[in-house]
Amino acid sequence: MTERRVRVRFAPSPTGPLHIGGVRTALYNYLFARKHGGDFILRIEDTDQTRYVPGAENYIIEALKWLGIEPNEGVGFGDGSHAPYRQSERKHLYREYAEKLLASGHAYYAFDTTEELEAMRERLKASNIASQYDAITRMAMKNSLTLSEDEVIRRIGSGEPYVIRIKLPKKEEVKFQDMIRGWVSVSTSQMDDKVLYKSDGMPTYHLANVVDDYLMQTTHVIRGEEWLPSAPLHVLLYRYLGWEEVMPEFAHLPLLLKPEGNGKLSKRDGDRLGFPVFPLEWEDPSTGEVSSGYRETGYFSEAVVNMLALLGWNGGTTQEVFTKEELIQAFSIERVSKHGAKFDQNKARWFNQQYLRQRDDTDIAERLKPVLVANQVHASDDYITKVCGLMKEKVHFPKEIWDLGYYFFIEPLKFDAEVVKKRWKDFAPAFIGSLKDKFNRSTIFTAGEIEKLFNEALAEQNLQSKDVLQVFRLSVSGMGAGAPIFETVELLGKDKVVNRMERALNEIHTYA
Ligand code: GLU
Repeated sequence: MTERRVRVRFAPSPTGPLHIGGVRTALYNYLFARKHGGDFILRIEDTDQTRYVPGAENYIIEALKWLGIEPNEGVGFGDGSHAPYRQSERKHLYREYAEKLLASGHAYYAFDTTEELEAMRERLKASNIASQYDAITRMAMKNSLTLSEDEVIRRIGSGEPYVIRIKLPKKEEVKFQDMIRGWVSVSTSQMDDKVLYKSDGMPTYHLANVVDDYLMQTTHVIRGEEWLPSAPLHVLLYRYLGWEEVMPEFAHLPLLLKPEGNGKLSKRDGDRLGFPVFPLEWEDPSTGEVSSGYRETGYFSEAVVNMLALLGWNGGTTQEVFTKEELIQAFSIERVSKHGAKFDQNKARWFNQQYLRQRDDTDIAERLKPVLVANQVHASDDYITKVCGLMKEKVHFPKEIWDLGYYFFIEPLKFDAEVVKKRWKDFAPAFIGSLKDKFNRSTIFTAGEIEKLFNEALAEQNLQSKDVLQVFRLSVSGMGAGAPIFETVELLGKDKVVNRMERALNEIHTYA
């Protein structure tokens, strides 16, 4: 067989905002496609109309765009060589394949009502058998295997609702090779005769998924571990439809786990521990409930991509910070782990910090501006940029520059009582007083000059830097830690600094 062009797809169902686990699936598909010079397709699997959520599809597209992991084909992308890419618009295509399976004896009609199915479940439960519609139980149900041909024709002719089910052999091993897990083998005795085609004239996920992967010439199915139990069924569908030759290779990705490691990462974990589990903010259209997003929280998309790439994959070296191009080069399915990857919020923040440090001060300033506007603060672009330059080593997010450095823009709201208690010793007022006088007399107010005056004051009072450096910082910022202090003081400017030191002398003793 000639080498086929690599074609992979991300096939979400538009049932709500895309979870970051889904984003990671999309990312691995993207990296794999780019690495092999292939196509990355976005297909929307919306056959279950009852679970359709308005806005979800746009959300998915916007998220992929924001992250810079754009498909080159599919809903919202590319020239549409295999269009349409929404399964609801491909409805007319699937019936033919269900018919083909009926004709070859690999599928059958079933007429059982909800009550009859429920009664079957109860019966099986009473005899302690896992309830399945399978090779044994189907013989006691109303389907084209148990009813006469005339009866089947009559029922269909009279418009009675029916489904089409796959007909699985009673006991047969289904084997396939997963790129991550190796050989997987499941007996059909553990599987059930899944519905392929529903009474509403829509295919189920299984049929539509396999038919579309075939028609769209998918070469590799890279998806979440939750689909592993469906894979044997899909393998049988490829076989029964005569497509085994072109069956895609499967790679089932490990789960993203809760930070504690027990169980799948959920939205509730994010709410409980205060981190987003969605790429973008999402407002639930029915409840109005808003869930936070990485973008709105201040994450750089590159940091999110980098973090997710390493949750379940590693490059085999100690390198952690990867550009997207480096990821494309380094990525391989062979290095994806079988085991679930624990989500680590601190690592996510750490990645953001790495990318923040690489940014230009002007770029960070642009991201800080909306926060300043929201706090009714006005400052020149030049000043904001300088603040960002001083603060960027200290924070994980642009908005933290306000949280931890608001005193660059407005007067300190208070003096940190902890620091006062620990550091505001008897000698502090005299030191701050003398330094303030030196500042007042000085005509140059540069970081170098400020440091010189500081050292002079130290020498005169027989103090060491560690005795008063934090006190000095406290007097001008209200805080015990922050950006390099002499540069901070220079940027604040002489008048402001002298006023603040005066205020400190008047106020701090009231804290003790
Ligand atoms: N529609 C499925 C989902 O929502 C796709 C699974 C697959 O990739 O086959 O995840």
